[in-house]
Amino acid sequence: MEQEKKLEWIIHPLLNWFEKEGRILPWRTEKNPYYIWLSEIMLQQTRIEAVKKYYDRFLEEIPTIKDLAEVKEEKLLKLWEGLGYYNRARNLKKAAQIIVEQYAGAMPASYEQLLKLPGIGEYTAGAIASIAYHEKVPAVDGNVLRVISRITGSKQDILLPITKKQVTNQLKQIMPEEAGNFNEALMELGEIICLPNGEPLCTICPLKENCIAKKENLTSQIPVREVKIKRRKEEKTIIILQCGKKVAIQKRESKGLLAGMHQFLNIEGNLTKEEVIKYLIDNWNLKIEQIEEIGEYTHIFSHVEWKMKGYQMKVKQENSKLLWVEQKELEKQYPIPTAFQFFKKKIKI
Ligand code: SF4
Repeated sequence: MEQEKKLEWIIHPLLNWFEKEGRILPWRTEKNPYYIWLSEIMLQQTRIEAVKKYYDRFLEEIPTIKDLAEVKEEKLLKLWEGLGYYNRARNLKKAAQIIVEQYAGAMPASYEQLLKLPGIGEYTAGAIASIAYHEKVPAVDGNVLRVISRITGSKQDILLPITKKQVTNQLKQIMPEEAGNFNEALMELGEIICLPNGEPLCTICPLKENCIAKKENLTSQIPVREVKIKRRKEEKTIIILQCGKKVAIQKRESKGLLAGMHQFLNIEGNLTKEEVIKYLIDNWNLKIEQIEEIGEYTHIFSHVEWKMKGYQMKVKQENSKLLWVEQKELEKQYPIPTAFQFFKKKIKI
């Protein structure tokens, strides 16, 4: 309890600062729960500046929860192309269908109900419930964990679930009436002042007077992040097959990593030109006219890393088991994951 009471002092300086300095963001101007929900899901793993254009385009195409419930998966994934973590988009749609069926299309108005929807965890439920419905619940993300750890001088590993639980409990005890503004202010402070890497901007921070990390010169040591993610490394050879003005793509499996997205033909391992040619003749009955190396690229997912090498090849005839599309269609219609974008940009037709 001692710890919780100690945190009460942050409320007023934080709210005053947010009122004056908080950025004007598209999803903040109206307290529409759909907009807040969408922005929070997009902002997981992606920075605000990058999200803005996705957010505007998404709402232009899918302006309401009802539209989201009815959208075709291919269109949904195309709108999400580049944001990664495509299950977030699929969960948005699943949740929208539940909202239409069970809540007549209106976002449920309580933290507990929100938490039951697919893809909505404690943080997102807290953000929507507090910002749209003024419910006094915290919303603890990485930014908030960093700010609170620094203020309190805590050296607990912020990657441990117990740390998140404790910070959530600390904040629950002090949630003010302006719960939404308070949560947004904490997130905003973490985004623009109490920066994660390099130096936090302590001299202009509204909480600098009592911040322990600042006082004790611990900002480079806090937050502590010790749990290391072990990533599996995989090698892949990417093949851009070109026949006339068309390139070949295929749809990925409906389950697993990048489910349902489209990809270029690819093979496990780092293959030489000769090995690729043999593979294409043996497996796809394709005769190669021209072959060119188009570079190497590594893409990092949360639990796996793909080290890729690419070839562009011209073939005389299409193989009907592949989907042959023109570059224009590739841009407009087919969702290609970020992992393959490096090679997509290299296509020369
Ligand atoms: S004073 Fe510095 S370390 Fe403390 S909360 Fe502010 S920016 Fe972060």
